[in-house]
Amino acid sequence: MEKRDLIVRCIRTFNDFPTKGIPFKDIFPILKNPQALTAVIDLFEEYVRNTHPQVDLIVGLDARGFLFGPLLAQRLGIGFAPIRKKGKLPGPTISVSYSLEYAKAEAEMQEDAVSAGQKVLIIDDLLATGGTLQAAYELVKQQQAEVLACLVVVELKYLNGADKLKTTTVFSLVQY
Ligand code: 5GP
Repeated sequence: MEKRDLIVRCIRTFNDFPTKGIPFKDIFPILKNPQALTAVIDLFEEYVRNTHPQVDLIVGLDARGFLFGPLLAQRLGIGFAPIRKKGKLPGPTISVSYSLEYAKAEAEMQEDAVSAGQKVLIIDDLLATGGTLQAAYELVKQQQAEVLACLVVVELKYLNGADKLKTTTVFSLVQY
């Protein structure tokens, strides 16, 4: 089976989660299927080696960006650094606030996680409205590093999140 098909077959939709009207995409079955998880990392690796071979660091988002980011970083032989919700990371941090659908949130990164001039790829499981990846983009830019692209397993095209991320490219494996 084609790698993308294998991944698509593992993604299921739960309607009205976490609130009414939201068709939530559950990506966890990918982790239950070693071939599908390998397919995710293979496709990301292929894209990065072909398009961004100069990448220095993968930055991943709390929490499901942590599932794929370190595996990809290890495959590429580079490092991984986390972005977390406010108050979760020790030591000096930088932060940025951003809007969720009905609330505000704050994302943080350790001050020494990214160095000036580094070439970074940002990874998360899913792009919805783009607010989360935009916050990550701003954190990396605050450190005078360069964002090469954002990688996601799933892109909800109908929410036009990529439009919010005008200044960077979004690479997704599965689109809805
Ligand atoms: P955005 O900021 O783009 O609106 O939302 C993306 C963030 O919310 C990601 O960190 C993602 O993990 C989470 N998210 C939003 N909707 C879904 C969904 O349907 N499925 C999953 N797995 N995560 C979602």
